[in-house]
Amino acid sequence: MKGLFDYHTHSPWCRHAEGRTEDYVLEAKKKGLAQIGLSDHLPWPKDEHKSWTMLRAELPNYVEEVRALQKAHPDIEILLAAEADYHAETLGQVGDLLSGHDFDYVIGSVHVLGKWGMDNHDEIAEWGKRDIDGIWRDYFRALRESAESGLFDIIGHCDVAKKFNFLPKADMTGEMRKTAEAFAKAGVLAEINTSGLRKPCREIYPSEKFLRILNEAGVGITLGSDAHRPQDVGADFGLALRLARDAGFSKWSRYSRLGFLPEALPSA
Ligand code: ZN
Ligand code: FE
Ligand code: FE
Ligand code: ZN
Repeated sequence: MKGLFDYHTHSPWCRHAEGRTEDYVLEAKKKGLAQIGLSDHLPWPKDEHKSWTMLRAELPNYVEEVRALQKAHPDIEILLAAEADYHAETLGQVGDLLSGHDFDYVIGSVHVLGKWGMDNHDEIAEWGKRDIDGIWRDYFRALRESAESGLFDIIGHCDVAKKFNFLPKADMTGEMRKTAEAFAKAGVLAEINTSGLRKPCREIYPSEKFLRILNEAGVGITLGSDAHRPQDVGADFGLALRLARDAGFSKWSRYSRLGFLPEALPSA
């Protein structure tokens, strides 16, 4: 599958990814990708989560490094992107941070509910102290709010709550439908994110069921590996393609200077 794209990759700026930023670009070229989006974790406004994001002071350096890589590697399209956290209390400041740079696109992800890093391995104990169905409902609500914020082009890994296998007991179909409708209304894309295969849940984000519901609501999809190691760039894209098809999609969206445009799924 040559000529594909990977819109979700990390770099050492976030302090929990391996290798050099350039290694991710080299891996993308090795795998024959046409585009790689460098989308490292945007800082929080007061560096609240500096164990897993770049620092505010480092953001200009990150942007500068991406610009330099674009010059050094004209044979692949390198996009300047970021994975920003959706959090109700930081929205205005995140908007300011984003508008300070000319990002090609922004992924909005929910990693933090209140003060709790719900997908953070170091904070996993909290899952045992709360009502799991309640966590899932809070998570879906945050997803809807992230779409409605208008700050993001793509909503990241939109069932990451399953990461550690704390699955809901109640039926979440209604939450998925409401969320899909909110995505459609806001015009955001959902990503098929293969990193779930490398996590305890061993499943791509989002599930086939949620993808099917997203498709029914008319939500478009993109593709990302969420690589935190260079070798994971483009990982399992064959499985992602099959999942997209199984969920009923015939298209996914590719970045262009005009924005994200739908194109037919490759036949491979
Ligand atoms: Zn990360
Ligand atoms: Fe994330
Ligand atoms: Fe990520
Ligand atoms: Zn991510």
